[in-house]
Amino acid sequence: MRTTVHGTAVRGVDVGAETRCAHYAGPTDVIALRFGCCGTFFPCAACHDAVADHEPAPWPRDRFDEPAVLCGVCGATLSVREYLASDFACPECDAAFNPGCAAHYDRYFEGVAPRDP
Ligand SMILES: [Zn+2]
Ligand SMILES: [Zn+2]
Ligand SMILES: [Zn+2]
Repeated sequence: MRTTVHGTAVRGVDVGAETRCAHYAGPTDVIALRFGCCGTFFPCAACHDAVADHEPAPWPRDRFDEPAVLCGVCGATLSVREYLASDFACPECDAAFNPGCAAHYDRYFEGVAPRDP
């Protein structure tokens, strides 16, 4: 399934207007992450597992200055550096991001260690 969120294509399972999905649908589950394998935005790694036809690869470290995190609330695309420095709030619209994503950083960002939220 492919949805367009503020003009950016997002693939996944039951993707909503602010990038919530079948796996993460809480109030702060409003980002989609771009995968290094296919360059496509997904709300979460389980969405990639469900709909992509290839193994996932995290966004590569040498491209951390490129847009790879989509805010589903305002449509801003943040670089990995901007996202990691954001303290779980969108720098454009101030929407809160789920700190729980930090537990899965290794799946999204190459070489970034997961941490407890
Ligand atoms: Zn992929
Ligand atoms: Zn998902
Ligand atoms: Zn935003």
